[in-house]
Amino acid sequence: MPELPEVEVVRRGLERWVAHRTVAEAEVLHPRAVRRHVAGGEDFGQRLKGHRVGVPSRRGKYLWLPLEDTGQSVLAHLGMSGQLLVQPHSAPDEKHLRVRVRFTDALDTELRFVDQRTFGGLSLHDNTPDGLPDVIAHIARDPLDPLFDDDAFHHALRRKRTTIKRALLDQSLISGVGNIYADEALWRARVHYDRPTGGFTRPRTQLLLGHVRDVMNAALSQGGTSFDSLYVNVNGESGYFDRSLDAYGREGLPCRRCGTPMRRRAWMNRSSYHCPRCQRAPRVSS
Ligand SMILES: [Zn+2]
Repeated sequence: MPELPEVEVVRRGLERWVAHRTVAEAEVLHPRAVRRHVAGGEDFGQRLKGHRVGVPSRRGKYLWLPLEDTGQSVLAHLGMSGQLLVQPHSAPDEKHLRVRVRFTDALDTELRFVDQRTFGGLSLHDNTPDGLPDVIAHIARDPLDPLFDDDAFHHALRRKRTTIKRALLDQSLISGVGNIYADEALWRARVHYDRPTGGFTRPRTQLLLGHVRDVMNAALSQGGTSFDSLYVNVNGESGYFDRSLDAYGREGLPCRRCGTPMRRRAWMNRSSYHCPRCQRAPRVSS
């Protein structure tokens, strides 16, 4: 699954290559790619035709293309293997090409949605007054959003009877933090993933948020990180680097801070990596 930095890299690519262009034609080549659009692929295409694309936006891992003067947006679900590619018209069709969008201008590029496993797709939604597709109105702001409210997040942590990694992955509290970056930020902050949030102090919350932002910004500056070779950037080039991670995927390897072998624990159908010395388990686990 792409995480926030990967999605932001795609958004920036779309902003550069697709924003302010008018749709000439949107061709749906596989119905599953627009399965959330009940009226079907042809209707989907008709609704995009003739509209100018605004500046692509993102909240957490959700990415959308506003259609100017319609009050609607096209939401992209990248799923496990979805890619948004900007390709020259002459480029051969990808094997798993699902949707092609051509534009009215003379530029030699088109937008393609390619998805091998077809878990992803495109869907059209009305916008809320904030300009958000209505289906993601409940998604909290992400920590890189200038309007993210650190205080409100801290109070929510104190209020909720939960543990810190669960809270970091709770999209109604904070969006865009996935398993990898949660483990990295917790390692940096020396906080165990199962620590109850009720006892968090303001400085501890602030420290952790700082590390969340640092790991995401570091990933962004290098183009995102991904372990899925299917996932490439908006130009179809593999823009993802194998960032040197400090926690995630390092089971048995020495902690980069204290040398203690890192541990992996099964956690909510996933894995959590931590240093047993730097990130002490809470005495009473909830
Ligand atoms: Zn350590």
